[in-house]
Amino acid sequence: MATEKPCKQCQKPVSIWASTCPHCGKVGPTSSVKTVAGGIAAIGLIIGLFVMVISDDGSEVRESKVAAATALHPDIQFGSLNPINHAAVGCHHKERLKALHDYINEGDQKAFDDALAEAVFIRECTLFKKGDKVYAEDVNWHGQVKVRRPGETTFWWTDRERVGAY
Ligand SMILES: [Zn+2]
Repeated sequence: MATEKPCKQCQKPVSIWASTCPHCGKVGPTSSVKTVAGGIAAIGLIIGLFVMVISDDGSEVRESKVAAATALHPDIQFGSLNPINHAAVGCHHKERLKALHDYINEGDQKAFDDALAEAVFIRECTLFKKGDKVYAEDVNWHGQVKVRRPGETTFWWTDRERVGAY
C-alpha cells in the first residue's frame, strides 16, 4: 500500500496521513502547504481578535467569529464549499483525530491502520480524498477545521492544512 511519501524537508519516508514529519517535525511533510500562508495568518489573527474584542453584542459574536476565522485562514471559505487538497482523516471527536496522529508521529503505522479501520467501521472517523468538497463550519486553535459533506448533517474535524485551495 503506497501510504508513504518522502518528506519535503528531510526526504525520509513519511506516512501521507502525517500532519507533521516524525523525523524533522515539518508541518504537512507530504502536502503542498505554503509557508507564506503563515505570515498572512498572523496578520489575520490580529485583525480577527480585534473584531472579536469590539463585538460584545451576543448576536454579533457568531459573525465576528466567522470573520476572525476567515481572517486567520484566508484560503478557507467558511459556510461555503472548499476542496480537500490532500488525503485526510476526519473524526467526530478531536481527541480521536489527535490519537491517530500520535500513532503516526510515533512511527507506528500498524497501530494507525488498525485504529483507523476500527474508527471508520464504527463511523467515528471518515476518509477524505483529494478533490472532495466540504463545507467548513468552524476552526480551533489546534490546527483543526470542522467540516461537513454536502447533503449530510454529520460533521468531522480534520487537519486545517488539508482544507482549502492550497
Ligand atoms: Zn522530515
